Amino acid sequence: MLAGGPKNVLIVSHYNPDGDALGSSIAWARMLDGLGHHAMCVVPNNFPHFLDWMPDSSRIRVYTKCSDEVREAALKADIICCLDFNNPSRLEGLTAAIEANIHARRLLIDHHLAPSDKYFDLAFSYTDASSTSYIVYKLISRFAGAHTIDRDMGTVLYVGMMTDTGNFSFSFLTPDLFRVVAALVEKGIDIPWINYKVYNSYTEERVRLLGYSLGPKMDIFEKGRAACISLTEKELRRFRFKQGDSEGFVNYPLSIETVEMSALLLENHKFIRVSLRSRGDVDVNAFARRYFDGGGHRNAAGGKSTDSMEETVVRYKRAVTEFFR
Ligand code: 5GP
Ligand code: MN
Repeated sequence: MLAGGPKNVLIVSHYNPDGDALGSSIAWARMLDGLGHHAMCVVPNNFPHFLDWMPDSSRIRVYTKCSDEVREAALKADIICCLDFNNPSRLEGLTAAIEANIHARRLLIDHHLAPSDKYFDLAFSYTDASSTSYIVYKLISRFAGAHTIDRDMGTVLYVGMMTDTGNFSFSFLTPDLFRVVAALVEKGIDIPWINYKVYNSYTEERVRLLGYSLGPKMDIFEKGRAACISLTEKELRRFRFKQGDSEGFVNYPLSIETVEMSALLLENHKFIRVSLRSRGDVDVNAFARRYFDGGGHRNAAGGKSTDSMEETVVRYKRAVTEFFR
């Protein structure tokens, strides 16, 4: 796919880009640069403040801010690399720009369950990988050699591995993941500093919104087994909400011993984004697919609702009762 001279490569990742989306995209782009190709990274919408310090984050084009430039680049692309998602709907507004190019080969690099396989010409889909950044590390090592990974690439890849594993506390924590982390430490990455930038550089409003979400807004039901936090646009405005401010909120209810499933319902002007987390065998990927037109992983998934907030809360609670039966 990459043979026969320099190629124009468009690298795209998912709506509400997270550390893994950005980390894997930036590192992949730098590898392509090193091989003499022309790579552009695009995400559908803006990324949060706690990731904007990442080396090379300025090379990421945000579709909502420069859609003409992106549409033009998408049409010129020889190869479109889809990183950290496997369903075109996760590109939201960017989907049409990608699909306007009917000649480009599509390459998938991802770890989500059930890829839309007809959509891609070549797929590196490893659903037991803890992050796309880990897969990208392995691919770069194979294609360009681990020696081509410098400190900055190591830093962005570490951000992806760290954020997708909840700071190395969720599943798929394989011995090889830690070998890769050790290799990144040898590249000189500064883990305490990365931790500070990602987890301890919040605004006061975000921390107060967290307090509000876990105080008045956290609803525990189904005999303590399920939790729901809902935040309307009006409430978000009160806390001067900026995108990314609610990142991680959905995990907190799971720190209650009895809670097995947690949801964050976040309203924006178009729809309500449903974010789901679970523990053990409770499969929120199946839940998101069945009730909220979404998907993801077994213990972390998402979807959306176009109903009102009140209706969505009722629907979620009913769905949980049915799902737990
Ligand atoms: P988050 O709650 O962090 O936004 O998403 C958790 C996981 O669910 C991520 O792996 C994400 O890719 C997946 N996910 C979130 N929203 C959707 C969606 O609307 N559709 C699908 N297929 N996956 C989603
Ligand atoms: Mn990921």
